[in-house]
Amino acid sequence: MSVRRALVDCVVLSLHDACVFYPCCKGCFSRIDVEEQDTTRFRCLKCGYSCLREQVDYRYRLSLRVTRDRWIFGVTVFGACLNQFFGIHASGLQRLVENLDGASPRSTLLEKAVQDCFIGRHFIFGIKVTTTESGPWFGGHVANGSSSKVHYIASQMILPKATGLEGCTVVSYYRLLLQKAAEYELGSTDPGTTS
Ligand SMILES: [Zn+2]
Repeated sequence: MSVRRALVDCVVLSLHDACVFYPCCKGCFSRIDVEEQDTTRFRCLKCGYSCLREQVDYRYRLSLRVTRDRWIFGVTVFGACLNQFFGIHASGLQRLVENLDGASPRSTLLEKAVQDCFIGRHFIFGIKVTTTESGPWFGGHVANGSSSKVHYIASQMILPKATGLEGCTVVSYYRLLLQKAAEYELGSTDPGTTS
């Protein structure tokens, strides 16, 4: 059973998961959680790595629903190959959201920014597949005629050169949305000078 890597050009249909980063183990990249006995620390259940809450690293995990040639399937992309699309590393984005996130819908603004930056656009995904699980790109077909439950892990995500979207990142768009929201809040609470 050999593994092949396919570069697959897809259009993003939707976000599969609104959460785009997770607290990550420095040792094995697994998700880490708050310790039950000591909530100031995070621990990895897989390898035992432990660190203080402030030292936690975050990692991107972008889970998308995409389409290609009438096929619809899921793709999840992990890690630093997403930095170029977000314009910041995952820990930086997490801090940004945490610092700006009060009780207001800040994180939904991030979700909107992510949606607007990815949905409807073409990306090339580097997907590892074994030859036995021939996907739509190897002329294979899925048994029940629907690939909507099929999900792949991509090790690469590339923006096709021709689209000319370089420079527009999630974080710059997110900052713009935050600014608009702040202006709106200011406008709606301003009592005005003429009464
Ligand atoms: Zn670990």
